[in-house]
Amino acid sequence: MAPIILAAPLEGWVTPLEAVPDPVFAGRMMGDGIAIDPTGDTLYAPCAGRIVGLQATRHAVTIETAGGAQILIHLGIDTVALGGKGFTTLVAVGDDVAAGDPLIRFDLDLLVREARAVVTPILLAEAGGFTLTAIAPAGRIAVGAPLMTLQPRAATRQQSPEPEPQPEHAFGDNDVATARRTLRIDLPHGIHARPAARISALARATIAVLTIEKDGRSASARSLTGLLGLGVTHGDRIDIIARGPDADAAVDAMVSLLATGLVEAPDPVARTAPPEGTTALPPGALRGVCAAPGLAVGLARHHHSKDVDVPHEGRGVALEQAAFTEAVQALRRDIAEQSATLKGPAREILVAHEGLLDDPDLHATTAAGIARGESAAHAWRSTIRTQADKLRADSNARLAERAGDLLDLERRLLAQLIGVSGERQVYPPGTVLIADDLLPSELIAIADGLAGLCIARGGPTSHVAILAASMALPTLVAVGATALAIPDGARIVLDASNGMVLPTPDPHQLAQAEVQQAETARKRATALSQAAIACHTADGTRIEVFANLGAASEAGPAVANGAEGCGLLRTEFLFLERDTAPTVDEQTRDYQAIADALEGRPLIVRLLDIGGDKPAPYLAMAAEENPSLGLRGIRVGLAHTGLLEDQLRAILAVKPIGQCRIMLPMIARVEEVRSVRLVLDRLRDELGISAAIELGIMVETPAAAVTADTLAREADFLSIGTNDLTQYTLAMDRANPAVASALDGLHPAVLRLIDQTCRGGATRGRWTGVCGSLASDPLAVPILLGLGVTELSAAPGVVPTIKACVREVSLDACRDHAREALACASAAEVRALARRFASKEIAA
Ligand code: PEP
Ligand code: MG
Repeated sequence: MAPIILAAPLEGWVTPLEAVPDPVFAGRMMGDGIAIDPTGDTLYAPCAGRIVGLQATRHAVTIETAGGAQILIHLGIDTVALGGKGFTTLVAVGDDVAAGDPLIRFDLDLLVREARAVVTPILLAEAGGFTLTAIAPAGRIAVGAPLMTLQPRAATRQQSPEPEPQPEHAFGDNDVATARRTLRIDLPHGIHARPAARISALARATIAVLTIEKDGRSASARSLTGLLGLGVTHGDRIDIIARGPDADAAVDAMVSLLATGLVEAPDPVARTAPPEGTTALPPGALRGVCAAPGLAVGLARHHHSKDVDVPHEGRGVALEQAAFTEAVQALRRDIAEQSATLKGPAREILVAHEGLLDDPDLHATTAAGIARGESAAHAWRSTIRTQADKLRADSNARLAERAGDLLDLERRLLAQLIGVSGERQVYPPGTVLIADDLLPSELIAIADGLAGLCIARGGPTSHVAILAASMALPTLVAVGATALAIPDGARIVLDASNGMVLPTPDPHQLAQAEVQQAETARKRATALSQAAIACHTADGTRIEVFANLGAASEAGPAVANGAEGCGLLRTEFLFLERDTAPTVDEQTRDYQAIADALEGRPLIVRLLDIGGDKPAPYLAMAAEENPSLGLRGIRVGLAHTGLLEDQLRAILAVKPIGQCRIMLPMIARVEEVRSVRLVLDRLRDELGISAAIELGIMVETPAAAVTADTLAREADFLSIGTNDLTQYTLAMDRANPAVASALDGLHPAVLRLIDQTCRGGATRGRWTGVCGSLASDPLAVPILLGLGVTELSAAPGVVPTIKACVREVSLDACRDHAREALACASAAEVRALARRFASKEIAA
């Protein structure tokens, strides 16, 4: 048998199965394969074969190839609930189809509005004589492009001996009992993909052979496609038959699964389900993930990044290599000039791009392409795209989002090579920009005058998202392809704070949004005018409001915004994107510059928080399956004591002594604090420093929160990192967009840990602060104060707002409010409570 190449049956975005918001598909219970987030309206045959299954509700189809492989394509998630609405079948069961034949037409808009998700799994449901060997990388795909390869099993066995699929046992007539039970199916949508997967999994786990019969037709309960082919709908009666030694038990288990074990629970992180804590979606609104909060009302304009055409053939190796070298130099100059005019994250991102531009691997691969006769432009483009595809396919969402940085460099270098730079799009003030995706340098170039950003793809930790947040530009990402259908010039409302965009707001919604915008601007102006004043609650309790810093350039603007110090200096900026660790002198220079810019205000330096997810090439660290649970935070410093000592020496060298306090990331055990304290004391002795240096801890693990009283004996202060504390408490990866909407620090579980931390710290007279992003959320601030937090370290841009918020509230009211929040059942309830509190107490 020859291998079969399955072609993409849809146009759209290739997505790993793990990202499908349904555990049955994501866990491969229906079979291995891939998913596509469609952008078109037609499903085509991925290969030649026979249609052997077509759901009555027209949302799923199975094709059998020659050789017996069955490919199941399931349009969207939970689309069975649409009862066929939005789908038109173009084939019938029994039809023979050729690759590329249209199978089902669907109304994408309707699916986006009404289905839980449109992402479409394409699965090898029955392997026949094949094994799945190659899958296209994540990224855009056109109909007909190669998607997966099915290798005949004999061919693959030589390369990798795979276990044979377990055959069903053949029990002869004399073999033990047969059991049979009749059951009425109560499942609202009958036996569709998800129940079928669960039934099949159970059947595969029993020794008895289970069969399901309906109206005289039968199917093996192990066969997904067989089960789907029975077309069992709500109210149907089926027979469950088991043959084999455990027949009775097998039938009992199947009856129990079908009767009670298949509750159709809504998935809390589905694409169209409103995220916890946000308002329900008004009709016609599109849901996205908030990358930078705020509200924008403006005219929609589409941004198109066009691919420039590049010649495939080069004009000779020497000429092309020289052109490449010259273009790299010119781009390096361009980036350096541009970054000199920028500050904060925009500058840091360009510095990172400069580093990427010098990547020797990118240069070597491009040179190899040129040596094969390709033009420099072609060789660079294919080098970058291969690398970007690899990044996108990475299960680490943060790495995947770095693909945008590479594509940005591709675009900029090609502009140098073929001379198309200079044409810069300018958008009228008040534009809400709609883009499929946006590259960091594009945003830097066009940001002036933009009111908001609505991005179909992207993720909340991409560099574009970070840039937008630093520009205070309301931004939604991951809105989906429907965003691209918003008409150019339409007046729209982008409510990034609530994770939605209204493409066709009615006059009332428009007026409401405009009033809200004006109100926000007025509050911001008041807050700014009082930013420099020390912060107290309305009843006089002193609350310090500090800023989080991630670069020396951010310190000055933070002070101008009223920051009373730095509550978290993320020192990673000094350690990443370089080939060797920074020396003590280099570090001292940077810390001193920040201390100087703070003009004597406290500077809390967090020791390096680096790990498997933020690798440094000069640190030998093994790849980890779960980097967030591995060598991270202080564990790295304790494993590489040279690094720890250098950083401590650099901090101790900053003048005046005592302005810098030291903070330890990711503490989980008291021994970690004691170990660092020993090193610190030894270095102080060595350097002749007699003054005490404050040594605090970050509370980012549930362990640290619940043992805060014990840790407070060893630490001078506690600062809660709510980003990690939330991730570890809820067991939701903070970098995974699939769970982003449920990852809320106002979850009562997190609040109870904050409560415990404050009480634990107080038993030893230690202050507790918050430096995670909850400290930047005005809704959270009164609760934090009520729980006993006395220091808030926020993003520099929101310091005036946080100070204004503190001034509005009395501690007594906050305490009552916090007590109610602790008793809430969910983050959504806490947010609703906090909104009521804000509208009552924070009137300004
Ligand atoms: C946190 O985890 O809340 C925190 C402030 O640290 P980081 O976001 O740098 O991990
Ligand atoms: Mg953290």
